Amino acid sequence: MDDAILITELNDFIFCPISIYFHKMYGNMDKMMYQTSDQLNGTSAHESIDEHNYSSRKDTISSLDVFCEKYNLIGKIDIYIGNKKLLVERKKIIRQVYDGYVFQLYAQYFSMIEMGYEVKKIKLHSIDDNKSYDIKLPEEDPIMFEKFEQTIEKIRMFDIDSFIQTNSEKCKRCIYEPACDRTLLTN
Ligand code: SF4
Repeated sequence: MDDAILITELNDFIFCPISIYFHKMYGNMDKMMYQTSDQLNGTSAHESIDEHNYSSRKDTISSLDVFCEKYNLIGKIDIYIGNKKLLVERKKIIRQVYDGYVFQLYAQYFSMIEMGYEVKKIKLHSIDDNKSYDIKLPEEDPIMFEKFEQTIEKIRMFDIDSFIQTNSEKCKRCIYEPACDRTLLTN
């Protein structure tokens, strides 16, 4: 389990692989400082927002630690509603369904199945505007599933020394930009 990938890193990696290292370095501090950022939105809204709405239901599990042996992934699920066999990942605000959000749900899905839970549906929920997004299961979406597996492979093969950022728009939107020596911004 030494080289296990954190489920949140799937989102970080797609935004920018370098951001994984900053995210680890700053830990939860950044969550408090940048609650509304799309980038950190990838870390989830689990622990801070509206937990009691779900946790009082008897058939609902929240914030469960999970592990997926097949892909060597670790993390937490947000909400599993047993009587609906539904896995939900809440974000503070979803402006766009990024691939990284979907991959986080896939990782939770595979973990839950390995752990013996039945999952029939997965969805993202945007808290601020109260919108939900049904996501196809990996077996219903082969293209997305392939991208998910490729992303995991890329994370495992990633060489930070040879990485060159080519998209300045990402740096413009990056909360770690002031501290980053790979930034493409000049001032
Ligand atoms: S500033 Fe640019 S290169 Fe650095 S972590 Fe952010 S997006 Fe990546």
